[in-house]
Amino acid sequence: MKNISIRLKITLWFSVALVLIVALSFVVILSVSGSVLQKTIRDSLIDTIENNVDEVEFLDVVDYFENDNDDDHYISFNGGYLEVDDDYLDLVNGVATALYMQNGTLMYGENPIAKNTVGTPFVDGEIQRVSVSGVTYYIYDRQLTLDGLEGLWLRGTVSEKQGSAQLSSIVGLSLYVLPVLVALAVLGGYIIAGRTLKPIRKIEEAAAQISHDKNLKKRIELAPGTDELHNLANTFNEMFERLDEAFESERRFASDVSHELRTPVSVIMAQCEYSLEATRTSEEYESALSIIQKQGGKMSRIIGTMLDFIRLERKLDSYSKDTLDLSLLVSSVCEDMALLCEQNIKMTFEVEPDIMVIGNTELLMRLLTNLISNAYRYGRENGNIKVELKRAEQEIHLSVMDDGIGIAPDQQKRIFGRFYQVESSRNGKGTGLGLAMVSEIAHFHQGEIKVESELGKGSVFTLILKIAK
Ligand code: ADP
Repeated sequence: MKNISIRLKITLWFSVALVLIVALSFVVILSVSGSVLQKTIRDSLIDTIENNVDEVEFLDVVDYFENDNDDDHYISFNGGYLEVDDDYLDLVNGVATALYMQNGTLMYGENPIAKNTVGTPFVDGEIQRVSVSGVTYYIYDRQLTLDGLEGLWLRGTVSEKQGSAQLSSIVGLSLYVLPVLVALAVLGGYIIAGRTLKPIRKIEEAAAQISHDKNLKKRIELAPGTDELHNLANTFNEMFERLDEAFESERRFASDVSHELRTPVSVIMAQCEYSLEATRTSEEYESALSIIQKQGGKMSRIIGTMLDFIRLERKLDSYSKDTLDLSLLVSSVCEDMALLCEQNIKMTFEVEPDIMVIGNTELLMRLLTNLISNAYRYGRENGNIKVELKRAEQEIHLSVMDDGIGIAPDQQKRIFGRFYQVESSRNGKGTGLGLAMVSEIAHFHQGEIKVESELGKGSVFTLILKIAK
């Protein structure tokens, strides 16, 4: 069972269930129709006899005895005549009616088992069962009570098998027709199961192709639909999309890192070669070593920040979120960072109290520290930095303003990319990862980060968060 296809499994279960249902229904219908048939036979017996009771009369004299057109039967009886009306039913629906005298003498009509029921007593208005050669018969007697008919009985007889011929032919027909219908239903079920499961084959093919060609660009293509399998295919496609993005971003990151490290490594190698090529003056050695130290420092910063970034990106999903007092957090970071006083820049902050958000303290501190560090790094000597936290309608705005070098409009979007640095800042202490981290942290908080800047005048970075309800 484990090795057969889902299509075959579904068809097998469906077929077994169908056969059981059909067989059960067949047995139930057969037994119900059998008992209904027996009741119908008995009712027909009673109806026929009750009807015939009024069709027998006693006449003293018969005037129209010789009348040729008269279909009634006349039997001499007790000095007069018994008139059996032409409406009298001799044999109808298998019911035979016979007219008897009390002593059992048959006077008129039919009784197929007359010989076998000679001794069967007459019982008025009740059905009796008699078995003759293994066949059961129903007998129904009525005593005639009209004047002159005293001592006469009508006896109706009918076989239990009456009408069973039709039932047997229906059963016989069903035995041929039902298996054909079941076979057609099974075939239909097999075809429909195949069609319904077709998307699964496509999903399987696409997954196999992706795994074989290592091509995450491939997607499962199905005709439009909204059933479970289409939803599954869409979920897979979304998963491929995300995997593709993740791999692409890993690949880009690896290439960015090697690109960033290549320059300092080349400079270090060049300086070493230069120093070892020939005997140099002590000033030349000093200069070479200072260049090597600077490039080494840059490499170490890049590696350090890169590891921070990777750790943050990988762990982002595992960071918890709690309701926290952002006002306290911002004030505390600002108090610490105001002490830096780099380039004689003065830092102030204006914080609206009791602003609560749902977020992660460590990440929000990292975000604010990065923005303030940049404001110092790209600020102007004796300049100003202002940090502001306030409510604005349904939002919270956290801004870091500086009056430093500013950013050209065409660079403003790109500075959030990994390792992106505006050309003029390339030789500074940055690594180009700070704002990429800021952007990831803003996303983690379902927030948005905006920049407004003018070259030579300064920049404002604003984090926009939704107010915690
Ligand atoms: P870096 O480590 O180089 O600072 P970031 O990702 O933090 O990397 O910033 C990317 C680039 O954006 C910087 O190299 C700088 O050119 C520019 N930048 C960031 N903040 C500011 C600012 N406050 N003023 C001017 N330029 C900025």
